[in-house]
Amino acid sequence: MCESCVKEEYPDRDSMCVDSGSYMINFVRCSECKSQDMKIVNRNCTEIEDEERINYQHACGQCYHIIAEHEHIFRVDKYYQHYEMSCLLCGSADDQRSIMPVDPRGPIM
Ligand SMILES: [Zn+2]
Ligand SMILES: [Zn+2]
Ligand SMILES: [Zn+2]
Repeated sequence: MCESCVKEEYPDRDSMCVDSGSYMINFVRCSECKSQDMKIVNRNCTEIEDEERINYQHACGQCYHIIAEHEHIFRVDKYYQHYEMSCLLCGSADDQRSIMPVDPRGPIM
């Protein structure tokens, strides 16, 4: 993890959960080699019962310096799908969506 490569640490992304890609706006440049080239490495996906976790690292495309660790969790319970994201670069967010055809909480105003 590296704070010097990002503008803001763990920016608040509200309900914007992503399980791929990088939040480029928050990337300054690699603090090691000054490159603005970033890529995703070590992506893996673990499924345990009703939960799915996707992890990957944002790394410098030139020197492989690790910029941030990305974690995305997807969970399903009886009524909702839950999404969670945590990443130094992409920020933190969570969201939930009803899996019922009609949301039991009523329409969103
Ligand atoms: Zn760095
Ligand atoms: Zn670099
Ligand atoms: Zn990320």
